[in-house]
Amino acid sequence: MKKYKTAIILFLVFEAIAVSLWLTSGSLFYLLNFSYIGCSLGLGLALSAADWKYARELIQFCVGAYMLVFLGLMCRENMQMEGFWYYLFSGVFGAGVLHYSIAKIFGPLLFGRGWCGYACWTAMILDLLPYKQPSGPRKRIGWIRYVMFGLSLALVVLLMYLGKANKTTMFHLFLAGNLLYYTVGIILAIAIKDNRAFCKYICPITVFLKPMSYFSWLRIKCDEEKCIHCDKCLKVCPMDVEMNNNSRQRKNATECILCQKCKKACPVKALK
Ligand code: SF4
Ligand code: SF4
Ligand code: SF4
Repeated sequence: MKKYKTAIILFLVFEAIAVSLWLTSGSLFYLLNFSYIGCSLGLGLALSAADWKYARELIQFCVGAYMLVFLGLMCRENMQMEGFWYYLFSGVFGAGVLHYSIAKIFGPLLFGRGWCGYACWTAMILDLLPYKQPSGPRKRIGWIRYVMFGLSLALVVLLMYLGKANKTTMFHLFLAGNLLYYTVGIILAIAIKDNRAFCKYICPITVFLKPMSYFSWLRIKCDEEKCIHCDKCLKVCPMDVEMNNNSRQRKNATECILCQKCKKACPVKALK
């Protein structure tokens, strides 16, 4: 049972959120939404603990496609950062604000960049490309994410100032934003030969994710007594994390998406 501990804890956390929000808001949507996400995460993590090869990809498709297709396209909710700003500034504590608060602002204190490894619908597609590990060292262009963050905020402030921010405009922005993310993400991945190039340099959501995940409870740790310094773990990491160093200041510490590839590659099971 010990190896399923994380799966059970995350499932229970999401169930607690689902039931609390249902009881306090009276909306059945919260119960179904967070129960679905909790079940997907719990099942996927349990399959991953049982060493099923495609467990992470399965969860990412279950959660990512649900959010993109059902919440985004069918319910016409803007689930991107612009939707978060719109609802926040409108004073509506709705799905967009809750989604960001749980998955991207406070949740990372518990599960780090788990969103990026198991739920993001942008990465769900980017991970299908053939460049699973970066082909070279990191580029020094990570500042682009801050520009994107500023532009996203400025766009929503401008629309609100002009009185043009409404649900229809936000839905059109959601469509345009996703088209832009997929296009830029795929072109960049092919150009740099790195599936996760968009995540490393462009994605504005990392401005929230990175500082909070620095303190994450869930993180890859190395048993230094077992480690034989073969560096096999470093070679398979899609995010260039120095996971065989236990310090919170390790290289690219806030980039880990908890994909577990390093653990599977370690010949002496030194990573936990
Ligand atoms: S960094 Fe951005 S695009 Fe990449 S997985 Fe995370 S949220 Fe998705
Ligand atoms: S390979 Fe390991 S350190 Fe790298 S992102 Fe995946 S879980 Fe994190
Ligand atoms: S793969 Fe395992 S043994 Fe090799 S460096 Fe990484 S943690 Fe150490």
